[in-house]
Amino acid sequence: MTAEPGWTPDQPIVSVKGVRKSFGDNEVLKGVGFDVMKGEVICIIGPSGSGKSTLIRCINGLNEIDEGSIKVEGQEVHDPALDKLALRRKVGMVFQQYNLFPHKTALENVMMAPVLVLKQPKAEVEARARKLMAKVRLEGKEHQYPGELSGGQQQRVAIARSLAMNPDVMLFDEVTAALDPETVKEVLVTIKDLAAEGMTCLLVTHEMGFAREVADHIYFTDRGVIVEHGPPETFFTEARDPRTREFLSQIL
Ligand code: ADP
Ligand code: MG
Repeated sequence: MTAEPGWTPDQPIVSVKGVRKSFGDNEVLKGVGFDVMKGEVICIIGPSGSGKSTLIRCINGLNEIDEGSIKVEGQEVHDPALDKLALRRKVGMVFQQYNLFPHKTALENVMMAPVLVLKQPKAEVEARARKLMAKVRLEGKEHQYPGELSGGQQQRVAIARSLAMNPDVMLFDEVTAALDPETVKEVLVTIKDLAAEGMTCLLVTHEMGFAREVADHIYFTDRGVIVEHGPPETFFTEARDPRTREFLSQIL
């Protein structure tokens, strides 16, 4: 997928407008909108069931939308003519469940999509995969199998695997929620490294320390709408919406 002609990097890299989405008669997104600029880190927080996962799945086309628009680099994600594979190369996604292939080594997991899906030459892919393993601070673990790695290490392999497709935007859906507390930090450090290099990142997370430190903007969702948003400096101290305040009082 190439950027829409006319799109320039000073325009939002992700633009979400008036998005509605129902599953049957359950309306999960009720008119959600926001813009993300290139290099920004956006955190989405909110209670379970409020539509956070659905929203980010819509951004890389895993979920269809009923109304509204989602553009990545100016291109409408839900245009039926859009090449979905190209979109998923451009927009990487990491889930809570890392789902690595257990019978492949860490390095092989990272190499798999570029070799099998993109048909890129193996030697080239391997050289890049080794660099990505180093980037996620897993140098020396290339030949370990997922079962030999901690949850945090496996999640970092999953991040490297996603980066192997060379995305412009990364989506993270509660990637630390299933991890032991001692390995949460190493995954957050990896994401912080990516952000520092200028990667555009959208994260659904309840790691408030991370959000406070790294996010450019925080969105709070409840029952399918964004009820509050702001930069971290004001979001945590000046939240006006009672639901946001209650949520924050439970987790801070
Ligand atoms: P969150 O990530 O904030 O916890 P989700 O986006 O996962 O929220 O879910 C929001 C609502 O959408 C929930 O009521 C959930 O049951 C429903 N939902 C999510 N995915 C599906 C699906 N594929 N089919 C039917 N209902 C779904
Ligand atoms: Mg979710």
